[in-house]
Amino acid sequence: MLIDKYIPIVGKNVIEEIKLLSSFISGKVIQHINSTAVGGGVAEILNRIMPLFEDLGITAYWDIIRGDTTFFRITKKIHNALHGKDVSLTHRDIEYYLHITEENMKRMRFNGDIIVIHDPQPLGLIEKRNNDGKKWVWRCHVDVAKAKESVWNFLQKYIIKYDKVIFSAPSFSKPLPIEQILIPPSIDPLSDKNKELDEEVINSVLQKYGISKDKPIIAQVSRYDFLKDPLGVIEAYRIVKKSIDCQLVLAGNIATDDPEHDEVLNACKEKAGDDPDIHLLVIDPANNDIEINSLQRAADIILQKSIREGFALTVTEALWKAKPVIASNVGGIPLQIIHKHSGILVHSIEGCAYWIKQLLKNPEYAKKLGENGKEHVRNNFLITRHLRDYLLLYLSLYNSEDIVNL
Ligand code: UDP
Repeated sequence: MLIDKYIPIVGKNVIEEIKLLSSFISGKVIQHINSTAVGGGVAEILNRIMPLFEDLGITAYWDIIRGDTTFFRITKKIHNALHGKDVSLTHRDIEYYLHITEENMKRMRFNGDIIVIHDPQPLGLIEKRNNDGKKWVWRCHVDVAKAKESVWNFLQKYIIKYDKVIFSAPSFSKPLPIEQILIPPSIDPLSDKNKELDEEVINSVLQKYGISKDKPIIAQVSRYDFLKDPLGVIEAYRIVKKSIDCQLVLAGNIATDDPEHDEVLNACKEKAGDDPDIHLLVIDPANNDIEINSLQRAADIILQKSIREGFALTVTEALWKAKPVIASNVGGIPLQIIHKHSGILVHSIEGCAYWIKQLLKNPEYAKKLGENGKEHVRNNFLITRHLRDYLLLYLSLYNSEDIVNL
């Protein structure tokens, strides 16, 4: 079985438990629904976890809602408001959101016994719920603790119609009258994004993008999004560059549900000017995973200088590659980075630049941070733990008295 391939990484007992839990779920159909097949952390996880459900004998469907640019501009507004940005939805925005939701309700088939809806874009599909006994779960990947009230109130009308809601971290949630479950996300150590790579593969990617191996590489992998603070990263690099010759790699691809990409990339280009050591890469989806993996493995230091974050899978991926990571103390990052143990947490551009210099000057210390980070991910944030959590959640929907809350 596919799942057995994880035994060398997490041990036999973990896999045996997953198989046992799956046997209690077989016969139920699981359906996950989100808004994009590629780009971003949600698609990343679903791409890897859905085949494992099938492998375990559970029928699992993954469906994607359809929306146009207007719809995704509105849902991006909602996303930003959940992160605390001061934006409001107009009457027209709400009407359009509901219109597209209805179109999707008509077009899609809801054939799961358990339907898991990811994030706000497809949230309104809950209106399709009737008394047929299906279980509906809203899986929220965003930190909503500081959500703008008006937008949260709009979403809450739909959220409370679900059976349960899942958050990625305790601090991401808000009080709700329905049960809340904690399930942190995960990465797949066997995916093209995370598996071990031959040195030649890594070198060929560096060559393709004109990145030299002779100078330290500082990298940040992220969608081009202002909340990932690529402009702040360029500023931090500039401070470091005054005393240490190094290169900066910003790598991002295009998520089909994120319309701000071009604007952010252009702002980065403008800020980078003609510095040949700043590499602004737009990764072709066809080669994305191996290229991102190569860039992460080639980097001397990985940054995630986000202003706001969800869980930040990019940090998990970097730690799994035993890289020293310097990242902002936001969202799910402090769950992954214990300051000065499994990475470095920073609060400013200057702090980020300071720590880049420190780690470049102390490679042994940097190496130790990376090694500790890898073990932290092995114990907490691999796909096998995620599978187990989902299986327990599915069971809890039918056996609420017998299952201890996760
Ligand atoms: N990613 C990628 N190619 C890129 C940029 C990002 O594959 O050019 C992936 C990245 O490796 C990670 C995911 O997109 O797996 C981003 O997830 P994260 O939780 O860090 O941020 P989100 O985009 O969901 O806010």
